[in-house]
Amino acid sequence: MNFKSFDSLSTEKNTYGFGRKKPFEFALKKSESREIVFIDDTPFCTREHSLFIDGAYKSYQCIGDNCPLCQSGHSSAAVYYLTVVDLKPWTDRTGETHHESFALFKFKQKAALELKKIKEKHGRLKGLKIEAKREDTQYAGKSGNRFFYVEDASNYLEEYSEIEYLEVFKKPSRDELYQVANKVAA
Ligand SMILES: [Zn+2]
Repeated sequence: MNFKSFDSLSTEKNTYGFGRKKPFEFALKKSESREIVFIDDTPFCTREHSLFIDGAYKSYQCIGDNCPLCQSGHSSAAVYYLTVVDLKPWTDRTGETHHESFALFKFKQKAALELKKIKEKHGRLKGLKIEAKREDTQYAGKSGNRFFYVEDASNYLEEYSEIEYLEVFKKPSRDELYQVANKVAA
């Protein structure tokens, strides 16, 4: 386990290992399940436009009143974010294996209702180890659609703290979104 990188996580703002400005976004393949530990349980909520640009879907935060994407007829959806530790081991560029990774957990209404049930049953999500499963259906989100309680994992709360959402999700300017709207229209 690389404790040096854990130290830098908690002391350096906006650094999520290897100089990344944004944390990883947790994602499962269809039919995959993985264990995660929730670090917080009050989701950061926002609205996003999901647009297909340059061959891929990209998300843009809606700025509400006077949003150029809303004005060009693109719908937005409520999205929620929590902070998790993904327990799948991975190997970095230098060949070193890490046992876990810090990640953004993005979800929508359906998954929110599932997670709410677990929170009601256990009184919290924070510090719980959960198995997230993405079923092979069209409606299952990338972060999963079924969630199962595994065990208490409060020890992770000593090493990790929640993502600073307001730093990661700065509202785009009207100008930036106007340019995106033009790109989609082109
Ligand atoms: Zn909008």
